Amino acid sequence: MKIERNKTARPTPPPDLSDSDPVREGVIVAHHGVSVEVAFEDGRRRMVRVKRNSGHVVGDNVTVTGGVLKRMPRRTELRRRDARGGIHLVAANLDVLGIVIAHQSPAGFIDRAIVAARVAELQPFVIVNKCDLADTSELLSRLDGIYAGSVPLFAISAVNRSGLQPLQEFLSQGHRGVFVGSSGVGKSSLLNVLCPDIDLKVREVSDYKNQGRHTTTVSTLHRLSGGGELVDTPGFREFGLVDITVEELAAYFPGFEEHGEIACRFRNCRHRTEPGCAVIRLVEQGSIPPERYATYMEILGEVEAGQAEARSKDWR
Ligand code: GDP
Ligand code: ZN
Repeated sequence: MKIERNKTARPTPPPDLSDSDPVREGVIVAHHGVSVEVAFEDGRRRMVRVKRNSGHVVGDNVTVTGGVLKRMPRRTELRRRDARGGIHLVAANLDVLGIVIAHQSPAGFIDRAIVAARVAELQPFVIVNKCDLADTSELLSRLDGIYAGSVPLFAISAVNRSGLQPLQEFLSQGHRGVFVGSSGVGKSSLLNVLCPDIDLKVREVSDYKNQGRHTTTVSTLHRLSGGGELVDTPGFREFGLVDITVEELAAYFPGFEEHGEIACRFRNCRHRTEPGCAVIRLVEQGSIPPERYATYMEILGEVEAGQAEARSKDWR
């Protein structure tokens, strides 16, 4: 299914810069492998050649002097894991991570993504897409019950374009974000709706099992007309976040933080059977719902198993 394009005319940007210009500060808005596109404050842009593995990513603040790029220190870095276990930097200086889900999203995905965002010092928020479909109200009230105290939650339909305004307002608060979510939840559809200049391919339902789907590998940063910015990196959309560690899960699991500093007797407490565990005490007192604790224990088991497997393969 093809999403309609917004045909509003954009103002013509000033001419591109050339090598003879003095030192200028800008931000990398597109990465093409051997060159990057830099946008400057005044709206002008230019391409700058880089080495293939130069380490520059979209969102990097840079200075350009006569065709030479210098990267400035980063505020945040977001990483992903590829199919073979390699780790890649996705983008720099992001503020927020949009966790996109729909009814078919795997269990535990939101919790893992929230933990990963908090580790990377990004503010996580949840977008429930496909709310035009029947039977979403039950999903919504369940998610609201779990996450309302932890992260912003947006119920939308990319196809109907409903529920977008609160999301756009959130992004417009000076936020630079990126979307993560399993394939088929509607990330491309949503990006198309939010950034009409982007024109991404939306996969046909019949394409789901087609592993060879063509995707462009260019990472791009888009300014939203209402404010805020979105980064699109196809590899990230496909593969998702770097795995979280046991320590990170124990420290950042959504729902534990509402109770202030969790002061367990042991600093590296996994909240399982350790004496003096503040989380177990909160569960016993009824402050943390038993279902949430059960979900935590389930993910803890998976993360531990994943780490053991990774160690045996010597990935880390
Ligand atoms: P991605 O893999 O996460 O990028 O998902 P796509 O944007 O490619 O969408 C996957 C499928 O879900 C396509 O068939 C879309 O038309 C469909 N889809 C996307 N958003 C919505 C929505 O809000 N409602 C419904 N019913 N379908 C949607
Ligand atoms: Zn504990």
